[in-house]
Order: sequence, then structure tokens, then C-alpha cells
Amino acid sequence: MRIAVIGAGIIGVSCALELVRDGHRVTLIDPGPAGGRQSASYGHGCWISPASVVPMSMPGLWRQVPGYLLNPRGPLVIRWRFLPRLLPWLWRFLLAGATVKRVERTARALADLLSDSPARHAALAAEAGVPELIRQDGLLYAYPDRAAFEAEALSWHLRRITGLRWQELDRAALEAREPDLAPHYRFGVLAVDGAHCTDAGRYVAALAAAAQMGGATITTATATGFVFADDRLKAVTTDAGRVDCERAVLAGGVWSQDLARQCGDAVPMESERGYHSVLADPVVGPRYPVMPSDGRMANTPTTAGLRLSGQVELASVAAEPDWRRADILTGHAATTYPGLAAGGGPVADDCWMGHRPSTPDGLPVIGRSARSPDVVYAFGHGHVGFASGPKTARLVADLLAGPGDAEGLAPYAAARFRR
Ligand SMILES: Cc1cc2nc3c(=O)[nH]c(=O)nc-3n(C[C@H](O)[C@H](O)[C@H](O)COP(=O)(O)OP(=O)(O)OC[C@H]3O[C@@H](n4cnc5c(N)ncnc54)[C@H](O)[C@@H]3O)c2cc1C
Repeated sequence: MRIAVIGAGIIGVSCALELVRDGHRVTLIDPGPAGGRQSASYGHGCWISPASVVPMSMPGLWRQVPGYLLNPRGPLVIRWRFLPRLLPWLWRFLLAGATVKRVERTARALADLLSDSPARHAALAAEAGVPELIRQDGLLYAYPDRAAFEAEALSWHLRRITGLRWQELDRAALEAREPDLAPHYRFGVLAVDGAHCTDAGRYVAALAAAAQMGGATITTATATGFVFADDRLKAVTTDAGRVDCERAVLAGGVWSQDLARQCGDAVPMESERGYHSVLADPVVGPRYPVMPSDGRMANTPTTAGLRLSGQVELASVAAEPDWRRADILTGHAATTYPGLAAGGGPVADDCWMGHRPSTPDGLPVIGRSARSPDVVYAFGHGHVGFASGPKTARLVADLLAGPGDAEGLAPYAAARFRR
């Protein structure tokens, strides 16, 4: 079939690669370069984590939010003037995590996308000729002490019931693995199967190039709509002309909402804006990826240097970046690695802001549209889109292979928002 894939972030390029492998004629549409700075897939934390099954909305979160919001260095901020517009999404977000039963259900649905994500990425990277970009060295959570770890008992319960393997590290073991880590971290948890990417933008570009080698066409354009005859798809329209096709995959990240609306689905999605800063040549730092519990941010060694990523800023897609959020990340690195504090503290060599495409229940939208079975959604992956890209692509390809619904897709259906 001729299949148009809208969006060349990690989700779109993974889908394109699966679909050419299945023998389809694929056109990948994006106004920017695959994995370019415009996409979340360029600037994320690079974690490929089977441990990321813990939704952002958890029971009792509402009690912690005021504390976060009053802490100027905290991990979460709401720009107040956007609050009225954000309220419906925030309400659904809080409800989604209101009970243990709900978050267990969400964790299981996320685990189906994440549990084998390191192996899937390793295989994709090898296929695209860049195996060195995916490293399976484990992912470390650093805590001040065991009590701080135990205070997150529900998060680790969710990880346990979804089969995560981990090792607990005492201070000596922490120091052996990460000698530059500040002495106030005295307890660690190592997600042993976790992996990371050392150059996210180059990786996505390499996957797009592999899809192209397999026969995909890349079109630099913005998709604007769909042409249907009854409920069958005839074409995707773009600002550079029409792409005739029998099927389309909507993988436009946070920008997917309007196109989904044209296909009959009003999906509540907001940007959880995030930031990164890069220290190109830090004097000290982590050997392997670290998440310090007090910073709630990923510290990841990459080919460009130490990438410090995190923060959740709720505002709008169009709002200007607030680079103080990136400064918080840079500043926190000196708390985590005291050797960086010398000479007035670290200075970022590069900063970036991007959009996590987030639904209120923390699950992506994968499945057929209401308007036509020929348009398949693959967006809304929030905090876990990088890790879950390859599995999402397989689900999409399976769905497009047959007339019905693929097994196990019910938790991700857009229909959950129609109720
Ligand atoms: C700070 C931060 C840290 C993160 N850390 C991690 C992490 O460690 N691990 C993890 O798994 N995830 C992480 N994430 C989440 C992850 O980055 C996203 O979930 C994922 O990149 C989303 O991929 P995507 O392909 O759906 O969207 P994107 O990567 O945003 O790509 C969407 C693409 O669609 C294109 N597009 C938009 N509109 C149109 C249109 N009309 N027509 C054609 N093309 C269009 C855009 O140009 C863009 O290239 C993080 C995110 C942030 C912001």
C-alpha cells in the first residue's frame, strides 16, 4: 500500500522503517529534518527505560503540587496566565492518577510498550548502521538514603509488578560506579536492563535514512488535512501539494491534535514543555546515566557532552521558552557533582526547549481514527516516546497489515476520550 507517515520524530521514523520492511510504499512528511531541533525526539533525556512505567499523575500528587510550585528550583511549573485554558486537562490528569488501581493499570499499559525497549532500539540501531549510538549500561537512580527510596514505595511497586529487574547500591557501590557523585547520595537503585542513546538527533536521522534506503520517500512539507471518499482515505494534503495514499499514520507529536480532530477525534493533549542544557566538556560528571532524586532530571553522557534534561513547564506550545528552567538544570548539576561548582559553577554550552506530547492519562494514542479505518494514530507518548517508539511502530504496522484491530491496543484507543 501507499502509506503517508506524518511526522519524522522517533515515532514517525520508526513507523516508516517498519512499514517499508513490510513492503509498503512510504512517504514520510515533515517540514523539518528527521530528528531535527523542532522535534521532542531531538532533545530528550536519551533514556530507554523499562522503569518509566510510573505515570506523572499519582495518588496524592495534588498534595505535593503546591510545594513544587512554590519551589523556584522545583521540577514543575505552571505559567499562571495559561491556567484557565489548562484546567480541563489538569482535572483529567489528576483523576487519571487518583487511585492505586488506576496507576497500576497505566503502568501495565506502559510496560507493554517499554519492557523490551532496550533490545528493540539496539536492533534498530544495528539495522540503521549506528549500533554505537545505543548503549545498554543500566540506568541509575541516586537517593540521599534508603528512606528517600522507600518514600517512593508506590513507584517501585509499579516497577516491581511490571517485571523490572534492579539492584540496590550502598554508598560504596555507588562510589565505585560514579566516583564524582556528591557524598550526600548514599543509596542507589540500578535498573540493570536500562539503556541510553548517545546522540538522539543523529539516531533519528539514521533511522530515517535507513527507511529511505528501504524505499521510503521523504517530503519536506506540513500536512494540512485528508481527502476521503466515504470513509476511505485517498490522500493527505500538504502545503506543498497532495500525497496520494491508501493509508496514513499520524505521528506529529504535540502537533497531531488538529489533524486528529479532522479525523473525528478530540484528543485532550497538552505540551509538557521540557528543557535540556549541555556541558560540552565537563571536568567531572557521570560515567553512565544518572537520575538524582532531588533534581528529578536525567544526567546523560552523550557524544556532545553531558546532557542535563528535565523540567515540566505547563503553558502552551507557542509560548516563548523560559531559559531560567534550563539554568535550574545546569545549576543542579553542581549539587550532584560538586567538582562542577569550581570557578563559579557550570555554564551551559547549548540549551533547548521542546514539547512532550502528553495526554492526561499518560498513555499514547495508538489505533484507528473515528472518521476512517485508514488513518492510524501514533502520538501522545508524553515522557516515554523515545523509548517506546519501536514497539509503537510494530503495533502500527500490525494494525495496518489487517482489516481489524490488533490485539492489546484497547488501552491506547482514542475512543477512551470519546466517553
Ligand atoms: C526534556 C525532555 C526529556 C525527555 N526524556 C525522555 C527520555 O529520556 N526517554 C523517553 O523515552 N522520552 C523522553 N522524552 C519524551 C520524548 O522526547 C517524546 O515522547 C518523543 O520524542 C515524542 O516523539 P514524536 O515522534 O511523537 O514527536 P516529535 O519528536 O515531537 O516529532 C513530531 C514531528 O512531527 C512534525 N510535524 C508536526 N506537525 C506536522 C505536520 N502538520 N505535518 C508534518 N509533520 C509535522 C514535527 O516537525 C516533528 O518533527 C522527553 C521529552 C522532553 C521534552
